[in-house]
Amino acid sequence: MSSCLFCRIASADIPAKVIYQDADLVAFEDINPQAPLHCLVIPRRHIGTLNDMTPEDATLVGTMHYRAAQIARERGYADGGFRTVINCNADAGQTVFHIHLHLLAGRRLGWPPG
Ligand code: 5GP
Ligand code: ZN
Repeated sequence: MSSCLFCRIASADIPAKVIYQDADLVAFEDINPQAPLHCLVIPRRHIGTLNDMTPEDATLVGTMHYRAAQIARERGYADGGFRTVINCNADAGQTVFHIHLHLLAGRRLGWPPG
């Protein structure tokens, strides 16, 4: 989708600080980081929200979590801890409508989130 910000980042049409990519996923630094490590893991294929997931997308979303855990481990945050979050629609604060997994680490993260 050429109008979608994260599709454009996935296709390198818009620059981002990419930290991992493969045929299915791209991970890049959040432009407004909320923790020392704050990156977003997205599928290359456009999926608007978790509500739009099909059963075929389940493996992909699982792989997004696997990749986030790998990045956390590579950055030295596996033992101290990290958080993954996918916001869905307005009440959860979703602002970009291409699913993205937030990976946050490097500070104490409060619970529940505000
Ligand atoms: P949401 O609120 O939809 O769950 O999260 C969207 C995230 O995308 C926010 O954390 C925001 O800082 C990030 N973001 C928005 N626009 C851009 C951008 O152009 N580049 C990057 N790297 N991150 C962005
Ligand atoms: Zn998209």
